[in-house]
Amino acid sequence: MTAERMDMYNPEAEAMPRGELRELQLKLIKRQLRHVNRNSSFFREKYRAAGLNPAGIKSIADFQNYVPTMDKDEVRAERERTGDPFGGTLCVPIEKLVEVNRSTGTTGKPNIFGITGRDKKWMEEAFSRMLYGVGFRKGDRSMVQGGSRWHGFVHGVMSGHYKMGIIPYIIPDSTFDMMPSVFQMGPDTDVDAITLGWPELSIKYIRENGLIPKNYFPRLRFTWMAINATASQREIVEETWGVPYRVVGHSGDQYVPTFECDYCYEKNALEHHFPEDLFFVELLHPETHEPVGPGELGELCLTNLWAQATPYIRYRMEDIALADEERCGCGRTHVRLKFKGRMAWSANVGGVQIFSDEVENVLWRFQETTFQRLQLVRFRRQPQEKLIVRTSHLPVQDERGLMQKLADALQDELKVPVELELVGEEEIATKGIKFEKCVVKEE
Ligand SMILES: [Zn+2]
Repeated sequence: MTAERMDMYNPEAEAMPRGELRELQLKLIKRQLRHVNRNSSFFREKYRAAGLNPAGIKSIADFQNYVPTMDKDEVRAERERTGDPFGGTLCVPIEKLVEVNRSTGTTGKPNIFGITGRDKKWMEEAFSRMLYGVGFRKGDRSMVQGGSRWHGFVHGVMSGHYKMGIIPYIIPDSTFDMMPSVFQMGPDTDVDAITLGWPELSIKYIRENGLIPKNYFPRLRFTWMAINATASQREIVEETWGVPYRVVGHSGDQYVPTFECDYCYEKNALEHHFPEDLFFVELLHPETHEPVGPGELGELCLTNLWAQATPYIRYRMEDIALADEERCGCGRTHVRLKFKGRMAWSANVGGVQIFSDEVENVLWRFQETTFQRLQLVRFRRQPQEKLIVRTSHLPVQDERGLMQKLADALQDELKVPVELELVGEEEIATKGIKFEKCVVKEE
């Protein structure tokens, strides 16, 4: 292994042998179970109802077999039932919190969660690894929207900047379209990195205004955003900006940062490293919630191993992914996950689960449907016989021809029968910052 391939923010943690990692995880899992059982009414009641004595958990297998999973709707329900804004998950006196953040609220009322002073140190560590992992270095100038920390993830990003000594050039907060503010700042504020907000909006803005980003920001090394790209999307973003587009993730709820390392970027693998000394990572069968076998798709389930304030234990995140635990070419030993999308944004077509991202990856190769809104139609009764896709498009002469071309491309790539419908953009609703990727219909 070359020295360069061990280039990481915290090699001791990030390249820890997996055996050691497992031991550390077990120790931290036991500590967190004791902590939540003692201090959180949400977990105490949940475990009592399941007949679980957390002190009886002696191994990782015990943990996976006996400790029940949770999801954000349970916390929300508990919040409504009790009037406690944390839904019984807060494990410290409220005076110990140094900040409270919220989730996006894409699927309803946002959850709130917080950090203590000690938690903040871990959050900084985790987000510094992420920023380093996608190419940030001390002294870099980073154009970033971050003044208001509107989301737990944004708070983490800013903390990582301060910790690493990256200079944030803060632009006004607008998640929807940051580009006017970005280009207003050039060309004299020549930055190394720019966060894009919604990548497709940046393309639209650049095209409509006939801009050449490199003329504005000659020093620019990369753009990045916590929006997972498909291969097609990344290609368009990179072509337009003239520099790499690096993806990070993953969630504000538990301040979880993940990233695609240099090695995975070079392979265009779109795989995210998860910090496993900080989170216990599982993939579960979406219905039975049993751990899936190696190489099988499953729903991401995380256990927070570091937080004092609001740690979630066996938290099901709804994202469907594949895991690779082999040591990465970058030298990191922590698991890499490749995301397929959300179960809620997929349909089972004759036994094959098709995700909206896979459809997007095909449709966005065509100029008429690049960055257009698209939507899967899922019948309540699954599986369904055909993949039904609705997409908006640029005006064309021959709509029938376009429909045929797109349906053929989808059929070729996904190997299932396809029915394609062209619709106006307004016919596909947006929810928060995301469009509605799937609608459920009766037959
Ligand atoms: Zn790697």
